[in-house]
Amino acid sequence: MTHHGSTDQSDEILATRADFVPTALNTDSDDRLLTRCVDWQTAMRRAIRDPDELRRRLKLPPTAVRGNAANDFSGSLDGIEGGINFPTFVPLEFLNRMVAGDPCDPLLRQVLPGPEEQRQDPGFVSDPVGDLRSVAAPGLLHKYPGRALLVVTGACGVHCRYCFRREFPYHEGGGTSDRWDGAMEYLREHTEIDEVLLSGGDPLTLVDASLDRLIGSIESVRHIRRLRIHTRMPIVIPQRITRALIDRLSRSRLAIWFVVHANHPNELDEHVLDALRRLIDRGIPVLNQAVLLRGVNDDADTLVELCRRLVNHRVQPYYLHQLDRVRGAAHFEVPVDEGRKLIEQIRKRLPGYAVPTYVTEQPGEESKTVVG
Ligand SMILES: *Cc1c(COP(=O)(O)O)cnc(C)c1O
Repeated sequence: MTHHGSTDQSDEILATRADFVPTALNTDSDDRLLTRCVDWQTAMRRAIRDPDELRRRLKLPPTAVRGNAANDFSGSLDGIEGGINFPTFVPLEFLNRMVAGDPCDPLLRQVLPGPEEQRQDPGFVSDPVGDLRSVAAPGLLHKYPGRALLVVTGACGVHCRYCFRREFPYHEGGGTSDRWDGAMEYLREHTEIDEVLLSGGDPLTLVDASLDRLIGSIESVRHIRRLRIHTRMPIVIPQRITRALIDRLSRSRLAIWFVVHANHPNELDEHVLDALRRLIDRGIPVLNQAVLLRGVNDDADTLVELCRRLVNHRVQPYYLHQLDRVRGAAHFEVPVDEGRKLIEQIRKRLPGYAVPTYVTEQPGEESKTVVG
């Protein structure tokens, strides 16, 4: 994929080209050429929302048993035990990094719904990490001392089938302009909080104007010193990292940290690495968290390659998460003992700073729990 230069001017190039991309060219063979030519909001609109469409584009046979894909029971089974409405959402930018014809592609496995999601596995629940018990104000989770997390939006740049917030009641709290008033009041009252995390969904699905307003409100709380942006957008739709966005973040009085989310080295193509480089070059540190996933990254070679690629590009591996036991994701689980052995193996092959901390999240604890 070398058909576009990766200069600092790429934002402007993208912005102008987006104006005359003919949508009629949106066919299989043209995807690869077009994905870098559209702005991030167009990329969101063009994302694939149908599992069979995903299969078709990857030259895979359609779902074997019709009616088993997660999308097919949205609505009718909604509210019935195990019937979860979590539609497919895969940007073409992410699709393009998958290998056509490979049903076991590690990126495809993260996003393609399957009949396994309907299994009822004991211990796999709708709110595996106790988010709802930690709601301090509408949209604000306060679990850990000194830092609080804003669930900014339910929208995301990709729907990962193992998402621990796949059943989060995002709509509660409304979408009005004063919806952060309660959260801001809580932050103002709690002077021991010096860091705010933006999460979701994905906070970078907000348009710049909304993000600007939200960051402005947080900046107005004197004792907040750091803003941490938890986002998968630089990985799935890297053109979201525009010059305007970086400019706004650089102007902040807050120390900005990025935590991105990549699980497999194939996710880190040149466009992604370019977006991360542009953040880091402007002084914004970038950390990565990954989830240990069966059939995606549950072998030492893959984890070593992921971490090596990250540190080669100055991104620090932060956490390797044990899977949160959310309903519908049991087929992704790797036992903790196996995870520990993997960490032991990769520790021998990587510099210390390239080894992520292997953690689980236990509801009720005051921090993540280190397991290896
Ligand atoms: C994971 C999490 C954090 C951040 O934890 P760190 O260990 O500081 O990365 C903060 N708030 C909530 C609610 C979390 O789930």
